[in-house]
Amino acid sequence: MEPEHDAEIGLDPTDWDAFEALGQRMVHDLRAQWETVRERPVWQPVDPALRAALAAAPVPESGAPADAVYDEFARTVARYPLGNTHPRFWGWVVGSGSPGGALADLLASAMNPNVSGLRSAAIDVEEQVLRWFGDLFGMPGASGLLTSGGSMANLLGLATGLEARAGFDLAGEGLRAAPRPLTLYASRDTHSSVDKAVRLLGLGTRALRKIATDAAGRIDVAALAETIRADRAAGCQPFLLVGNAGTVGIGAVDPLDRLADLAAEEGLWFHVDGAFGACAWLVDALRPALAGMERADSLAFDPHKWLHAPMEAGCLLVRDGALHRRAFTMPAPYLRPIAGTVGEDGQRFADVGMQLTRGFRALKLWFELKHHGVGVYRKLVAQNVAQARLLAERVRAEPELELMAPVPLNIVCLRYRGDGLAAAESDALNLALLQRLHQSGVAVPSATTLAGGFALRACITNHRTRRADLDHFVEAVLAQGRALVRERAQWVAVG
Ligand SMILES: *Cc1c(COP(=O)(O)O)cnc(C)c1O
Repeated sequence: MEPEHDAEIGLDPTDWDAFEALGQRMVHDLRAQWETVRERPVWQPVDPALRAALAAAPVPESGAPADAVYDEFARTVARYPLGNTHPRFWGWVVGSGSPGGALADLLASAMNPNVSGLRSAAIDVEEQVLRWFGDLFGMPGASGLLTSGGSMANLLGLATGLEARAGFDLAGEGLRAAPRPLTLYASRDTHSSVDKAVRLLGLGTRALRKIATDAAGRIDVAALAETIRADRAAGCQPFLLVGNAGTVGIGAVDPLDRLADLAAEEGLWFHVDGAFGACAWLVDALRPALAGMERADSLAFDPHKWLHAPMEAGCLLVRDGALHRRAFTMPAPYLRPIAGTVGEDGQRFADVGMQLTRGFRALKLWFELKHHGVGVYRKLVAQNVAQARLLAERVRAEPELELMAPVPLNIVCLRYRGDGLAAAESDALNLALLQRLHQSGVAVPSATTLAGGFALRACITNHRTRRADLDHFVEAVLAQGRALVRERAQWVAVG
């Protein structure tokens, strides 16, 4: 008897008109979301019933119409966003995305190329975007790669520097062949992704020497030079120096020119973490503060932060393309370039990073840079810095508020100053204040702990923020601070 053949299946819509209508509905709803975002709370806690339902639901064996799935999404998931599309979201370092970027992301996933090196125009678009970035950030002709974010860009930059400066057969023998312990250097205010990278590279976090910073959060260059000297005397092999173009805490910029000098004198790889701060380079008035960034051997920055690309988009630039490739190229018979085929160029981008299969991250950058022009991005960075300075002025002018750190870029650290509170009480009050700001949906700053104690931290990487939003925030901090002083028993108990 002949075996029975089921009708063959695929994932394309059976009704293309319905598909198109659904797409139009989605764009229609998105438009409404974007147009009214200012009127909604910045954030609200995800409904516990929804969380429980999501945690419990089994995988469906058979499906439902796409319309119905979208209805469920709109009713549930879409109602609890992070809030970073809102003009008063200033927590951590999170970009606000853009409508054009979101549409471009749709195009990118619809084209769905694998941007490893296989020949499609996506390769040329990424090459073009990387060339633009090299030109814009003072490293023309640099090798580069779009990454998932700054953490990955830092990891790949450090891996490149390690391979370049090890001086022994690191690729073959690994770290156990190191004749002397390898050490690297960064200020104590450096982002934790650098520690993570050091750990992943097998160096051990203690190989990363954390150098003291001054009152403005900049690395103490004399202490750095002394630590390198002492390490050499103790038989270590210093190989890499990390400079910060904008620390995550307060936005401090290390004296990058002096670091570049020192790296050159000591033969160290000079990596700059400019996750968000590198974008200040785009603004004429801010560039002098970053002088020396253009001398980096490798630079990490995040288009998904201050260039507002939808998540995810980080970028690594490496001055010496041959050294960049040396760290990651790994030939394989199934990846061999064959002329006249899709695979004719081999693995262009896979040869300079960890990923083989890669998405079309470049399109959203290409699309929005062409649409707005880089001039708009320069103005947006300058606008956020001006807003941060204005906020700092307002905080200084309010006797009930305290500015907790200098404001070199776009980060303002502040707290409510309750009269006659002990340090621990002030920390508890401001923690409760942060909770109330988030829970009420008025504004989302984040928090950090500085020498002066617990601080509210507003990092303005937001193209929707307007000056009135800062006033609104200050009024809310004052009102909630006063209320908390009146209700003292409550937060003293929780704190
Ligand atoms: C955000 C940030 C990182 C990490 O970047 P991700 O994109 O979150 O991985 C590294 N360094 C600094 C200074 C940052 O602000």
